[in-house]
Amino acid sequence: MSKMIVKAPVVQQREIAKSVYQLTLHSPELTQQAVPGQFIHLRVTENYQPLLRRPLSISSVNRDAGTLSTIYRIVGQGTMQLSTFKTDAIIDCMGPLGKGFDLQCHTPLLIGGGMGLAPLVFLAQRLCPRPLEILMGGRNEQELFWQTVYRDICDKIHITTDDGSLGRRGFTVDILPDLLDKGTFDRIYACGPRPMLEAIAAIAKQFAIPCQVSLEEHMACGVGACLSCTCAGTDGKRRKVCTDGPVFWAGEVFG
Ligand SMILES: Cc1cc2nc3c(=O)[nH]c(=O)nc-3n(C[C@H](O)[C@H](O)[C@H](O)COP(=O)(O)OP(=O)(O)OC[C@H]3O[C@@H](n4cnc5c(N)ncnc54)[C@H](O)[C@@H]3O)c2cc1C
Repeated sequence: MSKMIVKAPVVQQREIAKSVYQLTLHSPELTQQAVPGQFIHLRVTENYQPLLRRPLSISSVNRDAGTLSTIYRIVGQGTMQLSTFKTDAIIDCMGPLGKGFDLQCHTPLLIGGGMGLAPLVFLAQRLCPRPLEILMGGRNEQELFWQTVYRDICDKIHITTDDGSLGRRGFTVDILPDLLDKGTFDRIYACGPRPMLEAIAAIAKQFAIPCQVSLEEHMACGVGACLSCTCAGTDGKRRKVCTDGPVFWAGEVFG
């Protein structure tokens, strides 16, 4: 699959939760090629401040309209700059980058923590009309605005919050064994904080359910040249999150 750099006009930029934005870009070229799990690498200013592009997962694609969206949280200078782009502004966008999810399954369980829920929207869209259950976790009710995002795509939504303000109190992994006991899942797809992914990988292994995880590392070039985003593989070899991932089979990166 070839990557490209396009000048993509902003179709819409809106704040969907506190400091969380959905950015929709028009790029028929990117939307034709993108698969769930891939990301785009955005130049957020014209004066190269910050110098590096910022990676964001593709969170949905509308091929008919030629648009794709990302959902991102403002955490620093780059994402703050990005949030100032208005409709019709042009963004320099490289993509689609990385390896996506393997879609060969019948009864998947999606698990997302915090902003890790962003790439799973596109995945859920592509997995339809298969029966879809999602387990989502966040700090509190405000962080789980994701319910409304997934309401029309997923058949069942399971929720945990750290403070118990919505769903079960605790972490996603606290209720995962119970869900797997009761369900007939043949695949787990997970994205979120690394400790969560590590725990999910261990539980998936115990239940013998193939599991894919999407990793995030600090990233610079995004195309496999600079090696800043590497992580350890279970075979002792390094993996580049930008080109070998960001999606990996759990066994590749977690023992
Ligand atoms: C493949 C990939 C996909 C991503 N998809 C999304 C997405 O869909 N939505 C979203 O909100 N974010 C996503 N991120 C994270 C996003 O790229 C960073 O939040 C962003 O680059 C921060 O830029 P900044 O200049 O605003 O913050 P900076 O000033 O660069 O950093 C602010 C803070 O965020 C931390 N940070 C920065 N980058 C990362 C990272 N990659 N992983 C963990 N912590 C980081 C820094 O350590 C620092 O504490 C993704 C990252 C990767 C690698």
